[in-house]
Amino acid sequence: MIAYLKLSGKMGGSATTFPGQKIVNLLLFIALLVVGGVFVATNASWALYVVIFLSLALGVLGVIPIGGGDMPVVISFLNSFSGIAASAAGFVILNNVLIVAGCLVGASGIILTVIMCKAMNRTLGNVLFGSFGATGGEAQEVEGEMKAISTEDAYYILEAAESVIFVPGYGMAVAQAQHAVKELGEILEKNGAEVRYAIHPVAGRMPGHMNVLLAEADVPYEQLCEMDDVNAIMESVDVAIVIGANDVVNPAAGEDESSPIYGMPIINVHQAKTVFALKRGQGAGFSGLVNTLFFRENTRMIYGDAKATMNDLVGQFKD
Ligand code: NDP
Repeated sequence: MIAYLKLSGKMGGSATTFPGQKIVNLLLFIALLVVGGVFVATNASWALYVVIFLSLALGVLGVIPIGGGDMPVVISFLNSFSGIAASAAGFVILNNVLIVAGCLVGASGIILTVIMCKAMNRTLGNVLFGSFGATGGEAQEVEGEMKAISTEDAYYILEAAESVIFVPGYGMAVAQAQHAVKELGEILEKNGAEVRYAIHPVAGRMPGHMNVLLAEADVPYEQLCEMDDVNAIMESVDVAIVIGANDVVNPAAGEDESSPIYGMPIINVHQAKTVFALKRGQGAGFSGLVNTLFFRENTRMIYGDAKATMNDLVGQFKD
């Protein structure tokens, strides 16, 4: 419920905290165990209703201090619990199918959770109890300014580029720009450029999110590159086109020890000769942090919906 409300924007995405929250949650958990024990021992139906109520309260209070950015991890984690619950129910009613299916859901959920945490360089404890994004962080001072470029001028740079890397992020999914991206990729290839697509493991909102979108647009599999492979050649890349990605290309993750995302592996687009960052405005990424990439000398912002911008660029080549 809370994850749905946060992700759909019906409830603020930031972590909601109050003093003594962890103590309250711990007391709720202990009460659950005690009343659960009473139910097992006495079979009293009031105890079952109290367990249901306490579980609901613990679920809500346990999830509200987790920021919107971490919701996919929480959903996957809770999904894993649902598998464990199904498996336990299978033992109670002696149903092998339920036991096996529950184990599979439980195991896959926890594996996915661990993959997501690793890709963000965070521990599960930090995701669940770290209240990431509670304060929104202090306003960061960044040197330089964001420089915008028109699609007409971007076209001249792309036209001369010999190697281009597309780096998709959540914004590409929002704009559903994958087909336009593929079209531009094909045009650039015909123009003689080497085209690659670099996918960060946690770009978007679910692992594999970008792979699915690019596969849907029939982007050739050979052109998809892993983060490490692409980082190794980034300095030789003429243009990196960042399509609605933000946190996964934030150089602060590698350079600023005080940054909450310090240590998270990123795609080093800032090392490319020129970077085009496609986004609608000055909006922050999921972490809510300022991205120093956008202030770099070699970065040009192309403002607007990613799909419209991509179509504009395609149009420039066709004219
Ligand atoms: P981000 O959420 O960091 O940034 C998305 C950017 O897209 C925003 O800055 C926004 O800027 C822009 N945007 C939104 N809509 C559009 C649009 N229609 N057209 C153009 N731009 C748009 O995305 P990333 O993919 O870089 O990072 C993913 C984040 O999600 C990471 O912080 C990651 O840790 C987190 N996460 C990912 C998980 C996964 O498994 N993939 C799991 C858990 C968390 P603007 O508003 O200015 O347009």
